[in-house]
Amino acid sequence: MNKTFIVSILLMIFSSDILISQSITNNQAFEKGGWAIAIHGGAGSVPSSFTIEKKAEYEKHLLAALNIGREMLSKGESSLDAVQAVVVYLEDCPLFNAGKGAVFNIDGIHELDAAIMDGSNLKAGAIAGVRDIKNPIKTARLVMDSTQHVFLIGEGASAFAKLMGQEIVENSYFSTKERVDQINKIKENQEKPNPRGTVGCVALDKNGNLAAATSTGGMSGKRWGRVGDVPIIGAGTYANNNTVAVSGTGHGELWIRRVVAFDISALIDYKGYSLEQAANEVIFNKIDPMGGSGGGIIAVDKYGNISLVFNTGLMNRAWAKSTGEYGVGILKGDEKFFKK
Ligand code: ASP
Repeated sequence: MNKTFIVSILLMIFSSDILISQSITNNQAFEKGGWAIAIHGGAGSVPSSFTIEKKAEYEKHLLAALNIGREMLSKGESSLDAVQAVVVYLEDCPLFNAGKGAVFNIDGIHELDAAIMDGSNLKAGAIAGVRDIKNPIKTARLVMDSTQHVFLIGEGASAFAKLMGQEIVENSYFSTKERVDQINKIKENQEKPNPRGTVGCVALDKNGNLAAATSTGGMSGKRWGRVGDVPIIGAGTYANNNTVAVSGTGHGELWIRRVVAFDISALIDYKGYSLEQAANEVIFNKIDPMGGSGGGIIAVDKYGNISLVFNTGLMNRAWAKSTGEYGVGILKGDEKFFKK
């Protein structure tokens, strides 16, 4: 690896506080008919194998996913359809820990979790521990739209997906060489299970509707049917038109115990916090002191404000607004801003 690059990364990591908060705030009242979107592709520590090329690859795919959402929202499509379409793209991209490219559990099997929520009516759909559904987020949406339930697991969720004509794949479809190397290192105790690569999207559409979607392979090396925060409504995924849409990524056990996504909504709702205050409070004052491997959240509120907050070395992220501003970031402080 290029030495200058390693040095510049180390400088970025150690020269300032490790806690990162990035807010794209609307200074005036949100224009009527405006929209906003944010996406993440996981958070975690900076891997030792990280290179400039790898960073560019992540940026490319985050921007491609973002473009899908931007196009849909600018045409007036719903935030619900937009967050789903973005997450499908990221599930199909082998770089991320969701769909193709998902991590292995300790037994060498991929078990996937996903959830989606509609802020306009508080409907939600989630699945967990599935081994053969190509695009878990699509089945989560079908749980929401076509059943009286919110959360299906394992074989039952797969049976439902088949019934609904969803694409079923062999478990090996999700495998990549990177994930094989990663689980081998974990088994040999050379690497700790480290969250990185979960995907999520939150959006506000032109009609003022908020939606959130998150999809993951969970924590690498997980055991015994472990389920993380992602499919638990209010922990890793939440949307409510009165407050905010949130998607989380990180050490899921902490997100569950702190009910992170709902807590951000509750601080806005009950205490009148701004999105920025609520997101910072939860990540820096509640999650950070708990230790663990940390993580982050992306959120969009009902005014179109965006927050991207993380307490790790890296969060893959991108965002856009109807004003034409958009951007992408991987490491802390390396955001690139664009204007269309
Ligand atoms: N939150 C996910 C989980 O715990 C992992 C991640 O975001 O990388 O399952």
